Amino acid sequence: MSEPLEQIVTAVPGKRSLELAQSLSRHESRNVTYLADDFPIFWESARGATVTDVDGNRYIDCTAAFGVANVGHANPHVTQAVAEQAERLVHGMGDVHPTEIRVRLFERLAEILPRELSRAFLATTGSEAVEVALKTAMLATGRSRFASFHGAYHGLSFGALAVGGIDRFRRAFAAALSEPLLLEFPRDGSGISLEQAAQRTHDALEHAGDIAAVIVEPVQGRAGCFRPIVGYLTALRRICDDLGILLILDEIYTGFGRTGRWFAFEREGVIPDVLCIGKALGSGFPISAAVGTAAVMDAWPRSTGEALHTSTYLGNPIGCAAALATIAEMRRLDLPQRAARLGNELATRLRRLRAHQRVADVRGCGLFWAVQFRGTSVAGVAVKSALARGAIFLQSGVTGDSITIAPPLTIGREQLLRAVDILEESLP
Ligand code: PMP
Repeated sequence: MSEPLEQIVTAVPGKRSLELAQSLSRHESRNVTYLADDFPIFWESARGATVTDVDGNRYIDCTAAFGVANVGHANPHVTQAVAEQAERLVHGMGDVHPTEIRVRLFERLAEILPRELSRAFLATTGSEAVEVALKTAMLATGRSRFASFHGAYHGLSFGALAVGGIDRFRRAFAAALSEPLLLEFPRDGSGISLEQAAQRTHDALEHAGDIAAVIVEPVQGRAGCFRPIVGYLTALRRICDDLGILLILDEIYTGFGRTGRWFAFEREGVIPDVLCIGKALGSGFPISAAVGTAAVMDAWPRSTGEALHTSTYLGNPIGCAAALATIAEMRRLDLPQRAARLGNELATRLRRLRAHQRVADVRGCGLFWAVQFRGTSVAGVAVKSALARGAIFLQSGVTGDSITIAPPLTIGREQLLRAVDILEESLP
């Protein structure tokens, strides 16, 4: 694996990025891209863990572009599979005339997922996979209320937003959103005991009485890599079973090797009723899925010609081709194992940052880490400063006080350690 390091040849952002930003600001909704004198850069190309901008600067990518490029940007096997599929069939007819490649993907998913999760529903974005999971729970239980966790992120479409636990995203639309039962996420290291956390969850769910499903990220990603205390997911599974509530695991961020296992639920061996996957599944080609047990998925009525839920791009052939090639690459390179191994080295290196006076916490697993800072301005400054030095990090945390380190799982050891050096040099 070649390991090109960063190479900064202009001011950051360079001239071309600044010109494009001007044009972008005239055309794009002002909500979308944060534009400033020192941010962002415009990406021109990306390969492996290397991003090149339109001014010819080269960066080490510690984001995998939102946890998507787990097998590396422009992975040649994925690119080839996509190109071949594009020659044959770009788009099919979602719920009307299926494709062979969709069948192949279902077969492959069955190989990597627990036997119980035998029925899949393909979709395009993570949010839509969450919507499918929520609809499934309504059909299977006859109830319509959901429980989720403070700090949870499940996407921003209406259904997914309605179970979101970050108030900032909900506030402007709250009038049209149903209210979830928001549970406390028992963060590892928070001091709460497993017994206490389980009791509180049980009591809240029992008291609510009308909950169809609990949806949870096995590691809260957007909130800044919070793991629940060990044993909590097992306890949650038991509580849900006791109360007749379904358990939906959102592994859209944590899936496909990110945490050092194929899926984060393997840490405790908890099998959900519905599993949501997306992001790295297609290596950048929009494809996601909600995969459930036959018992809950068969709550959907059999199609008699008009599907109750579908969409134009359901089972898109290029997405399926990308997903098949991604899974093959994950296996060939044994990337979950690599993430675990490299993650151990990263952990050792990152712990040194704890000595820094602005660093409040460092936590994570596999190649999924967050550095949390004291005060809300430090993370933004560090992200910009690291960018100018040649490393890309993503700001995160409910209040924006953290940065996430989630590189492609193929990132070279030297690249990764160099990026952390850059991060350390960038701390104010
Ligand atoms: N769930 C989780 C855990 C996520 O991290 C995300 C995206 N960051 C989503 C759902 C939503 O996915 P999408 O943006 O593709 O709709």
